[in-house]
Amino acid sequence: MVGAVKSENNQKAKQFKSYLITHGKGTEMAKCSYCDKGVSFGIKVSHSHRRSNRMWKPNIKRVAAVVDGSPRRVHVCTRCLRDGKVVRA
Ligand SMILES: [Zn+2]
Repeated sequence: MVGAVKSENNQKAKQFKSYLITHGKGTEMAKCSYCDKGVSFGIKVSHSHRRSNRMWKPNIKRVAAVVDGSPRRVHVCTRCLRDGKVVRA
């Protein structure tokens, strides 16, 4: 039973994802330019177990970094910043 609910949830999340992408609703800018980490989708479940679709955005920061030898403004996730993948300008 639990498995059935899960697969149903997954399908709903996929539908929500394709809806957002085809309507261009704020999924593109929330992307790391180093590791391509982007938004992910799932379902919000309230205390009364009503379910609605939701989206998680990665923690993206706009930083000055050295790209091809010149300083640039890039959108980087905080994990890439922490792991030192970004050379700060
Ligand atoms: Zn990243």
